[in-house]
Amino acid sequence: MPCHEGEVVLFSREEEEERDYYQEVRKYTRFEDGSVRLRNPHVSEMDQDILYHLALGSGSHDLVEMFSDVKFVCMGGTPKRMESFAYYIMDEIGYKLPAGTTLLDISHRSYRYSMYKVGPVLCFSHGMGIPSVGILLHEVIKLMYHAKCKDPIFFRLGTCGGIGIEGGNLVISESAVDGLMQPFLELPVLGKMQRKPALLDKQLAHDLKNLRRECDPFTITVGKTMCTYDFYEGQGRLDGAFCDYTEKDKLEFLNRIHAENIVNMEMESLCFAALCHQAGIKGAVVCVTLLNRLNGDQVATPKETLNKWQEYPQMLVARYIKKSLGLPVDVPQRDHPQVVKCPNKHRIVRQESESVE
Ligand code: URA
Repeated sequence: MPCHEGEVVLFSREEEEERDYYQEVRKYTRFEDGSVRLRNPHVSEMDQDILYHLALGSGSHDLVEMFSDVKFVCMGGTPKRMESFAYYIMDEIGYKLPAGTTLLDISHRSYRYSMYKVGPVLCFSHGMGIPSVGILLHEVIKLMYHAKCKDPIFFRLGTCGGIGIEGGNLVISESAVDGLMQPFLELPVLGKMQRKPALLDKQLAHDLKNLRRECDPFTITVGKTMCTYDFYEGQGRLDGAFCDYTEKDKLEFLNRIHAENIVNMEMESLCFAALCHQAGIKGAVVCVTLLNRLNGDQVATPKETLNKWQEYPQMLVARYIKKSLGLPVDVPQRDHPQVVKCPNKHRIVRQESESVE
């Protein structure tokens, strides 16, 4: 982190190199006005670009009109969780839908992913695992390009297994590694293996961590995330359909990676980090731990508690968004979204109008 001494800001050599590197990346990933530029020459030559899994297209929709104001892209596993987040962020930033309108899943016709837009915040479900999040990211990055969005920030709000961290706490990924502790996404392309570095924005991770409040019911750990291709054997669980290792083998492995500062395991961060990095987009992964993997494998916590825990990444990311928008961080902009002022009078008005045919 830069160190402020009076008016002078000192950067370490490593930070200066990193800054130069990001300025270089920016040349390929941004136009002069800060809007997203694609690292793919073919897309601009296409007559139209069909974002098939989002049920949108550059020929069929006015993507600039619909999405150019997007500043934050938030994604998480399930459509339900992201719908709740959309309603939550609407209250937190005090975004008002015009009377008579409601939030709709813009991608419902794709039957693949869900998408909700709340002013400058776009919320997506990404499904489970690297292939699913990868396809979504390709299309969302292209959407940012077609819509001419300026410097969008991407967040993954997820769940994970903690390593040495009890359930109900937050982990912000500093970077991601695969199951062999390699810090890149390996993708076979045209018969050759491509390696994409899985780097995340350090400053963003630091800023998010600083938004923790004393009274929060969770701790926040910043560390490396192991991203696997599987929930069971891939994460060393003993409770899958197959297992040809012992509990001792499993604990040796978990303790070994923990000693390497790996603090959690999940199934999307490697691809999220790699594609955001390649696109020159600032990205952060904020996950809540569902259990401490050093103590077991099964997710046995009651559903109600799990639902409560899944709100924690949302709380932190909402604080970041509010701060960036210049809103007070610690108070929601709207306590209750109801437009009905008096339920009794509302009932009478409704009965009266229903009785007139
Ligand atoms: N998600 C994972 O990938 N692993 C866990 O242990 C919990 C959530």
